Amino acid sequence: MRKERVATPKKTITIIVPCYNEAEGLPLFYDEWKKVVQDLSYEFFLLLVDDGSVDATWSVMEELREKDARVCTLALSRNFGKELAMLAGLDYAQGDAVIFMDADLQDPPSLIPAMLAEWEKGYQDVYARRRSREGETWFKKKSSHVYYWLLRHMADIDIPMDVGDFRLLDRQAVDALCRLRERKRYTKGLFSWIGFRKKEILFDRPPRAAGMTKWNYWKLTRLAFDGIASFSEVPLHIASLLGLLCSGSAFLYLLFIFIRTLFYGDPVAGYPSLVCIILFIGGIQLIVLGIMGEYIGRIYSEAKHRPDYLVMAWHGDSKEGKFEEK
Ligand code: UDP
Ligand code: MG
Repeated sequence: MRKERVATPKKTITIIVPCYNEAEGLPLFYDEWKKVVQDLSYEFFLLLVDDGSVDATWSVMEELREKDARVCTLALSRNFGKELAMLAGLDYAQGDAVIFMDADLQDPPSLIPAMLAEWEKGYQDVYARRRSREGETWFKKKSSHVYYWLLRHMADIDIPMDVGDFRLLDRQAVDALCRLRERKRYTKGLFSWIGFRKKEILFDRPPRAAGMTKWNYWKLTRLAFDGIASFSEVPLHIASLLGLLCSGSAFLYLLFIFIRTLFYGDPVAGYPSLVCIILFIGGIQLIVLGIMGEYIGRIYSEAKHRPDYLVMAWHGDSKEGKFEEK
């Protein structure tokens, strides 16, 4: 893009928007975004990442790019999931800071000035926290409470409650995140892991502007487990502990049976208790194997060294992503 010659060059901010089937909502998002940034004295880029959408998202993106040279578009070769779409955005983003936003206007662009103000004060990771969780079921609220508690105690990383991916990251933080190339990404945890000066701002999260949410309970549960397994080895310790507990109590029970048989003889009985014990121990063994499997799966997927994502098209200003496969 043409750069104006000014005495003090404006700081450049890239807004990264991962999009999966957002054809309907994207134009609304663009209009909102444009209104907000026109009054700000920064140079903005809007980096739209098409995460393998199957609707008209890509053509909508290209239309926006025709209209506005600040729009950059990146198409991944298939749906890699929001976490990897965000990584792709980070790789291709340029400028002094980036801001992650959802395409559905649930992250209101009106918050951008407040984020920039905090950034100017020297904060390097300015994240938006939902003030309330209205409109969500009791079960969802409760389960997320329990989950964050678990994460804090098991994984030793403190992820603030009610914080999504809506945040501003300084160039230093962006570069740090780009260096973390793990495939099963749990970005929320990575944000905490990298550190840097953090600042929270509060906002009210509106409902989706258009389209449907891409999350269901199964996907959320997977993400939740990814969080724990990427940051904690506690489940493995629990597995060993369970084994120890079971074999310990089995040994005590064995002693008990042995002594009882010595004193009272052995009338053949105890079939039901035997079955119960076999089933119980069998169940625990399967659980423990499953936990180990989760970690082995992680080793496997890292060991393959596949690229995190593949790019199909890049229409933007910068040369190319830092980590793109050659
Ligand atoms: N998204 C994506 N890839 C996916 C799923 C979602 O890029 O596989 C994007 C989606 O287009 C949206 C953002 O991630 O911009 C958040 O998704 P969604 O609104 O469905 O999540 P929710 O707000 O319900 O948590
Ligand atoms: Mg949403």
